[in-house]
Amino acid sequence: MTIETRKPEETFELGKKIGIQALPGQVYTLVGDLGVGKTVFTQGVASGLGITEPICSPTFTIIQEYETGRLPFYHFDVYRIGDIEEMEEIGYDDYFFGEGICLIEWANLITEILPENIIQITIEKDLEKGFDYRRITIDGLAPVL
Ligand code: ADP
Ligand code: MG
Repeated sequence: MTIETRKPEETFELGKKIGIQALPGQVYTLVGDLGVGKTVFTQGVASGLGITEPICSPTFTIIQEYETGRLPFYHFDVYRIGDIEEMEEIGYDDYFFGEGICLIEWANLITEILPENIIQITIEKDLEKGFDYRRITIDGLAPVL
């Protein structure tokens, strides 16, 4: 599935729809260059889960947990990860194989430990279509009945 957005609010709304529909145990991966809108999308997902506190990128902590929504929400940003061992240290598998929702920014840096069933989201710019244009591709999400 591919969706095009032309401003941050549209990317947020798409994330919000995902958050509203999210099911326990789902793992979402988010891939795209710096500044493409991964965190904007994540803020939408959190909003869809009913989380009202502010979502910041957990770049220096790898993971930020939110327990105030419909489901636990685990927001990872692995941009600064040096070694996969850092994921072991935070006990990533409890999150990946738990009942909450995981969303992993820069998941391409930790492919060797990703579960088999993930929902992959890629965000790309296309400057020919404008500075605020984004193409968002979602793979692995079953259509909601
Ligand atoms: P990332 O987490 O991928 O590094 P951020 O979400 O932090 O990126 O930042 C994305 C930036 O791009 C924000 O400043 C946002 O306002 C801007 N932006 C412009 N157009 C869009 C769009 N269509 N979707 C998402 N963000 C957009
Ligand atoms: Mg980010």
